[in-house]
Amino acid sequence: AAKDSGKGGYAAYTPNMTARILETARLTSLLRDAIGANEFHLLYQPIVTLPEGDLVGVEALVRWHSPVRGPMSPGDFIPIAEQTGLIVPLGRWILREACRQAVEWRAQHPRARALRMNVNVSGRQLQEAGFADDVAAVLAETGMPAELLTIEVTESGVLSDAPTIATLHALRAQGIGLALDDFGTAASSLGLLLTCPVDALKLDRSFVDRVTTVARQSTVATAVVQMARSLELSAVAEGIETPEQAAFLHDLGYRLGQGFLFARPLEPSALADMFFVERLLATAPIRNVTFAE
Ligand code: C2E
Ligand code: MG
Ligand code: MG
Ligand code: MG
Repeated sequence: AAKDSGKGGYAAYTPNMTARILETARLTSLLRDAIGANEFHLLYQPIVTLPEGDLVGVEALVRWHSPVRGPMSPGDFIPIAEQTGLIVPLGRWILREACRQAVEWRAQHPRARALRMNVNVSGRQLQEAGFADDVAAVLAETGMPAELLTIEVTESGVLSDAPTIATLHALRAQGIGLALDDFGTAASSLGLLLTCPVDALKLDRSFVDRVTTVARQSTVATAVVQMARSLELSAVAEGIETPEQAAFLHDLGYRLGQGFLFARPLEPSALADMFFVERLLATAPIRNVTFAE
């Protein structure tokens, strides 16, 4: 924050910073009430096979509709929820709601029986003593099969803490999947692979962005899928927006993808419509997509 407050990175205390602190304080107090007031909801973004576009899972993505502030993206409030610890009760609600929804879909649609549910979890939540037990309780309470739940964690500092690694092992022991989210963006990536009991890597969207046009971007995409293969992890490419990117990533060896090309994050009813669609690519605006095999 100090870096962008003046030329030459001089850390002056500016009115801008005061405004930001006030804004954080206001959001914190709104956030505190929002959890009890049911102001959050979840959208679900399909995860599909490459190149077919078969729906195999969804990622739950939280949204906040504040009566005071209107709709907000996770980028606007998750960092504040993490700083204040409010992510703990919020995250508990998110996990329970995502599992409840998955079980409801399973009961309603045969094609939802094997649908995986991915839920984002902050490092802060993993640091809570008893997190793995809380997850087990949510699974039992909702009837969600552990094998269909994947917890997505980002490569944050806490992932190498001993208690957090113990928590990750306790989750894996229950049969829950673990994915390293935004993979490739942090410096710790390689070491983490050896200490964290993960079973999937999600290539960060920033490497997918220009994968077909910038040679160095495809180097990272290639390295990640090769690492995944040699460690027997699955690899998911995030943020696929064009048929060219999908084809290119499939060529590199990615068998799973996610992105606006297939579907945006959807309201539950819109996601349920996807159970009646053969393949998601057929619903995309471009119909004559051909993939290199
Ligand atoms: P993420 O977990 O990496 O989620 C993927 C983000 O990329 C989502 O943004 C999604 O809408 C966006 N996205 C997906 N496909 C495309 C694409 O083709 N193009 C572009 N431009 N974007 C795409 P969203 O929903 O705004 O979430 C942002 C981040 O906030 C998430 O990144 C995750 O780190 C965090 N987040 C979201 N929901 C939760 C939650 O329930 N709990 C926690 N702890 N964090 C969450
Ligand atoms: Mg994620
Ligand atoms: Mg991600
Ligand atoms: Mg992200």
